[in-house]
Amino acid sequence: YLANQEKRESNTRYYPRHMPIVLKEGNGIKIKDVNGNEYYDCLSGAGTLALGHNHPVVVEAIQKVLDSKLPLHTLDFATPVKDDFIEELFAHLPDRFRSRAKILFCGPTGADAVEAALKLVKTATGRRSLFSFHGGYHGMTQGALSLTGNLHAKQRVSTSMNDVHFLPYPYSYRCFFGQGGLAGAQTGIHYIQQVLSDPESGIVPPAGMILELVQGEGGAIPAPVEWIRSIRSLTRQHKIPLIVDEIQTGLGRTGKFFAFEHADIEPDVLLLSKAVGGSLPLSVVVYHESLDVWTPGAHDGTFRGNQLAMATGAATMRFIEENHIVAHTEKMGQKLQRQLMDVQKATRSIGEVRGRGLMIGVEIVDQQQEPDQLGTYPAHPRLARQIQKECFKRGLILELGGRNECVARFLPPLIVTDDEIDLITDRFGQAVI
Ligand code: PMP
Repeated sequence: YLANQEKRESNTRYYPRHMPIVLKEGNGIKIKDVNGNEYYDCLSGAGTLALGHNHPVVVEAIQKVLDSKLPLHTLDFATPVKDDFIEELFAHLPDRFRSRAKILFCGPTGADAVEAALKLVKTATGRRSLFSFHGGYHGMTQGALSLTGNLHAKQRVSTSMNDVHFLPYPYSYRCFFGQGGLAGAQTGIHYIQQVLSDPESGIVPPAGMILELVQGEGGAIPAPVEWIRSIRSLTRQHKIPLIVDEIQTGLGRTGKFFAFEHADIEPDVLLLSKAVGGSLPLSVVVYHESLDVWTPGAHDGTFRGNQLAMATGAATMRFIEENHIVAHTEKMGQKLQRQLMDVQKATRSIGEVRGRGLMIGVEIVDQQQEPDQLGTYPAHPRLARQIQKECFKRGLILELGGRNECVARFLPPLIVTDDEIDLITDRFGQAVI
């Protein structure tokens, strides 16, 4: 299979180059290849599989829809399954936001939701430009890629929107302002404030600001909650719709059902995909009704009525709620971070362990080189790749991310157990040392 797919598939194929296996079975955190080898999957479909592979409630939800003979493809017609999904999702929104929120079902991928949100805020405000952040990732379609501040993802292609202003993200380990921690982050806020209030800056108020509260592909970087609150009040003050991209962070991944709950703020526009489809493709935009200036049919798309995905999404949200998975995620996340910090103490190749909930990054650095004046060592992407390979040999699947592909990213299913966390750290520790 591998050779055939290598021959037929685009040169952009990625994971099989580093992890040459042919998948056969998945169950919880475990996957098996056709040769019977077993792996612990901390990639989880790029953070999609909140309940792991083939969770019984997901399988049952699919079976129930199939047995009911509901049309599987329904455009935006009303269905009981869609109703259940909306009710389930809205039950998780904070009260004030819920009472005035509208939902838009988009195409299957996260980037579809990003594109819809862009169009929404541009229509609602009549403005053109957008604010985004260094290191952020929002997808591969032209609009989403234009907002992506992760230069690695752009691979030097030109994008369709050139009126995107990139602002500094509080990446304290490699701080944009040469000043770590919250102080550096607040300097970023002053910079944004200046840009918005200074008529000489040449920057007109944007149609919106798009933000990940924990940068995922950018290297598992959580923004400090004080910084998030400052961003929220700044955008309110300047009447800039705040688009919170929770495509990766949503549904409990960070130890709260939505990452914005950590800072006790509400977005104007909320983007969800990945876990919200409960293993199947789905994306939605949830937004304040005041932005709903669209006329009927102003935004459509063929695959916005995937009944299987709505059923598995609703079943996943229900399971998360009934089994206190969010609190479990927080607990497991803390344990994993603690144990990875122990690994850090025993090696010289880890610069920082960070994250929120079960969205954790380990920054691989080169301590043979001189550190900068803040004591930060240069990134070591080659070593990161080697560690990923060693993990794979030991049956552990990890993703790399970050500005320089030097961050080992841990995104295990939220249902990961205590014992599985021990096993993950054991294998990672052996691979690093
Ligand atoms: N936003 C964020 C925060 C993401 O992590 C991703 C995917 N990694 C996307 C948008 C794009 O989603 P998709 O790949 O489904 O288009």
